[in-house]
Amino acid sequence: PVPVVAIDGPSASGKGTVAARVAEALGYHYLDSGSLYRLVALAAMRAGIALDDERALATLAAALPAHFEAERVFLEGEDVSDAIRTEEASVGASKVAVMPAVRAALLDRQRDYRRAPGLVAEGRDMGSVVFPDAGTKVFLTAGVEARARRRYKQLMEKGMAANMESLLKDLQDRDARDAARAVAPLQKLPDAALLDTTELGVEQAVGFVLGRVRS
Ligand code: C5P
Repeated sequence: PVPVVAIDGPSASGKGTVAARVAEALGYHYLDSGSLYRLVALAAMRAGIALDDERALATLAAALPAHFEAERVFLEGEDVSDAIRTEEASVGASKVAVMPAVRAALLDRQRDYRRAPGLVAEGRDMGSVVFPDAGTKVFLTAGVEARARRRYKQLMEKGMAANMESLLKDLQDRDARDAARAVAPLQKLPDAALLDTTELGVEQAVGFVLGRVRS
């Protein structure tokens, strides 16, 4: 089977950056599964679909008119790369992500990314639900304060407003929601390697993951 490197972990742990770099180093395809949940939330808000209407959301997710191109995300041909990163879309994504029918509707779409020569997939349930047979599984995390500082820096670099206290609170709330939900809760699997990046730079984290792939 086509090899899969599954990288799961909490919000703002740096898994996106690390996963993209690992994919580049290996020449593998890359799946940012969180962007699919963000797209469902954004498309629903634009279509006036309530974020608790599971049936309508699942229908939308199954036929999501989205595509990815050169690190940009498009919804019905419009570049929504920034729109899916707003606070509103983030909160929306974590709401639609608790619904089993939405998760089921996105399952095949995610598995379609598994193409030769290989795939690096990042999210919350890559190793547990989407690619349980992945040859490499990593649980990438960092202390909540380190994650809040990284998110703060990112926002400042983009010239966006940021408040350390509310970022910290937001991450704690989102962690609690992701860990406690009934479907695909965020967890470290017994067969996943733990990578705590609180004190690690991106290069070191990338090196760790590559070491797991090759070993
Ligand atoms: O990783 P990111 O922050 O972009 O994910 C947005 C939201 O989508 C998360 O809050 C999480 O609840 C959800 N998600 C998920 N399963 C995944 C990826 C993301 O439930 N595989």
